[in-house]
Amino acid sequence: MDDNFFMDEFTWSYSRLNSYYICPYSSKLQYVDCIKGENNFFGQYGSFCHKLFEDYLKGYISLFDMCEVYENKFNDVVKLKAPYNKFSNIRQSYYISGLDYFGNFEGWDDYKIISVEEKFKFEIDGKQFITIPDLIIRNKNDRLEIIDHKSEDLKYPKRQNTKVSEKFEEKIKQLYLNSYAVYQRYNEFPEYLNFNIFRVNNWIKEPFKVEDYNKTIQWAKNTIELYKKESEWKPKFDYYYCNNICNFRNICEKKGQK
Ligand code: SF4
Repeated sequence: MDDNFFMDEFTWSYSRLNSYYICPYSSKLQYVDCIKGENNFFGQYGSFCHKLFEDYLKGYISLFDMCEVYENKFNDVVKLKAPYNKFSNIRQSYYISGLDYFGNFEGWDDYKIISVEEKFKFEIDGKQFITIPDLIIRNKNDRLEIIDHKSEDLKYPKRQNTKVSEKFEEKIKQLYLNSYAVYQRYNEFPEYLNFNIFRVNNWIKEPFKVEDYNKTIQWAKNTIELYKKESEWKPKFDYYYCNNICNFRNICEKKGQK
């Protein structure tokens, strides 16, 4: 029998699966030991901006109020300190780029909104999954599109750049998992998967590819098997991540072990 048979009862998600590749030890702390951990500046900033998009798309605030709400609430909501950087003031630079974005945001009146931050539950091979796509729309071709708001500067891998490709492939998996949920509910796959990289005012529009979709579903199944067989939960050390991003950065006794 698998060591971690209790995981049959887990509700899986993209974050839960992907965290295993970031650091198995952090997955254990969060999902096996159920330690809550703590947020970080980037997480708070991202959630704050996501909420602004959500409130606009649900009609709770107008397009013209977005910038003012951003300005007035920023310090109340984004309370955590940004990491130190000798070349720039990260907090200030994030604040300014958000202000610039929301001050010039022209809205998405063309979109037929299908769902905003709605919870989708689904099963893959009898395993429970949950996902909350940021936005699903119907485009002018009467086809669905999934849109994910990103505060981090994600790039499209046009040239042979392994790091850019790896990052993109990591992030697009979430949208392919969302595509699975979309298909379960609407009986159709999306035409495009989009990243709204708002902080740097960029947009990536990726056509849905059946091959990448199948690879992602297989990745999800394989990752569940890795979780179930895991017994060592080795820490994966990355100086910047361990000290600034990880939810367990202030309690991890393994930080620094390679
Ligand atoms: S601090 Fe580093 S080693 Fe510790 S759980 Fe987080 S990512 Fe893993």
